[in-house]
Amino acid sequence: MNDAWVKVEDISFSYGDKKALQGVSFDIKKGDLFCVVGPNGGGKSTTFKILSTLLSPSTGFVEFWGERGDRSLRNIRSRLGVVFQSPALDKKLSVEENLFYHGRLYGLSGAPLREKTRALLERFNLADRAQEKVEKLSGGLKRRVEIAKSLLTDPHLLILDEPTTGLDPVARKEMWDYLNVLRKQTGLTIIFTTHLMDEAETSQRTLFLDQGRVLVSGTPSELRARLGGDVIARSEERRVGKECRSR
Ligand code: ADP
Ligand code: MG
Repeated sequence: MNDAWVKVEDISFSYGDKKALQGVSFDIKKGDLFCVVGPNGGGKSTTFKILSTLLSPSTGFVEFWGERGDRSLRNIRSRLGVVFQSPALDKKLSVEENLFYHGRLYGLSGAPLREKTRALLERFNLADRAQEKVEKLSGGLKRRVEIAKSLLTDPHLLILDEPTTGLDPVARKEMWDYLNVLRKQTGLTIIFTTHLMDEAETSQRTLFLDQGRVLVSGTPSELRARLGGDVIARSEERRVGKECRSR
């Protein structure tokens, strides 16, 4: 039986001559918090862009809840919540306005939009910041606003590229608490990328990407058992070595 909510089948992608992904396959189960971990240049953001349908794989395919990404792009897109690594908020607008404008873009309006915005701001403990301009918020709060925004459309899948990069340890921990509570309370399926092995521990399943290939995948404890703690250090050493040689 294939119970994959999202199925990634043998995808490859190149930027010109540069091979960013080579034959990557994995399944995400409904309701899982799924982690893609790996060093810089491993292919995490490319995977993120393919999952969010911004890039099409040069070979292979992605299937979302049984629909092929290359066939019903519009349907699928409207069911994705996407959080980019760099902020995609309007800094000059308030928290609430950012959500209102995003909601309107997706066809929400009036009382339903106001009610949804209110509920999401409450869920992310942002209700008392609703009128504040986004530029005044800390990095951690901005991320929370982005996630709240991405959930306005009731996505089937939330995709986040390095959601904790640039956050201090307290904001990082808060982010994981929010994502875990969200998953447990709503059953939402979430995939995120990180370059930090310890963040993989918060997930149900992890895929380790190195130089565009899957090095290993499994539960966090399976990964630990198979890799030991030093795998990121080793692949990072290899990358730095390569950079030094090419100078
Ligand atoms: P990660 O997010 O894990 O750091 P990326 O998916 O961004 O990895 O990058 C994978 C590989 O593709 C890297 O070698 C990177 O240099 C290369 N790459 C990424 N984006 C581009 C681009 N726009 N043009 C050329 N090469 C790129
Ligand atoms: Mg990246």
